[in-house]
Amino acid sequence: MVSARPTRSVGPPIAVLGIPWDANSSHRFGCAAAPGAIRAALHSGSGNDATEHGVHVVPELRDVGDLDLANERASTADADAITAALDEQLATGRRVISLGGDHAITYPILRAVARHHSDLTVVHIDAHPDLYDDFDDNPLSHASPFARALEDGCMARLVQLGIRTATQHSFEQAERFGVEMIGARDLASFDASTLRGPIYLTVDLDGLDPAVAPGVSHHEPGGLTVREVLDVIDTLPGPFVGADIVEYNPSRDVVEMTAMVAAKLLKEIAGRMLSTA
Ligand code: MN
Ligand code: MN
Repeated sequence: MVSARPTRSVGPPIAVLGIPWDANSSHRFGCAAAPGAIRAALHSGSGNDATEHGVHVVPELRDVGDLDLANERASTADADAITAALDEQLATGRRVISLGGDHAITYPILRAVARHHSDLTVVHIDAHPDLYDDFDDNPLSHASPFARALEDGCMARLVQLGIRTATQHSFEQAERFGVEMIGARDLASFDASTLRGPIYLTVDLDGLDPAVAPGVSHHEPGGLTVREVLDVIDTLPGPFVGADIVEYNPSRDVVEMTAMVAAKLLKEIAGRMLSTA
């Protein structure tokens, strides 16, 4: 019988925070129901609590529940509440894995992370660059979080992976802000050895192919495999200070398969955080 490896515990526990905020979506709603569905998949009993590296991560997670938000479109009060909640967790020394919500959550998150970590590198997996200067007259649109975060100087470097539907405007925005945009077809050119911590990872589940993650609002064929995303996670250097998983839309899912992908990514992200303090 193989004995269990001891749980590796490096630093304070990792906080898991649900952010049920989808009012800034531009096409469909439903991502606000994601945090509970991802938790249900994580604790469904279909798997164990260990990562692929044998790190027992689930006991290291401190679920701090869901934020109580008005979930109103373009609400700066909601955005400020998200920033305040992250700030509160980060002040305790915890790293936070946030469960969206749509991708709009990442701008208020990064405002808080930047207060605690300078020279931040953000690794961003997505079909879309989310760099719109203006989308539907909503500054907080889920199509704009990285434009807002770059305007605020929240990061030193933004590396986007899996992009496969960028408009000319998005390319211009990438040029303006010095964003490194690596398309899905060019993923092999991603050189993880150039990454330096602190690292923040944001995973929009539509960065994966809809064949493996159908539970998203925007299906964009030609995306990443689960294995490719896991390989990216494995390459991240420390300190790995935070992450989010966004755009899971349970109303679009098929037999909870995307929830299970999100739960798997949650585990492997947490495992990487614990081994790259
Ligand atoms: Mn996105
Ligand atoms: Mn997307």
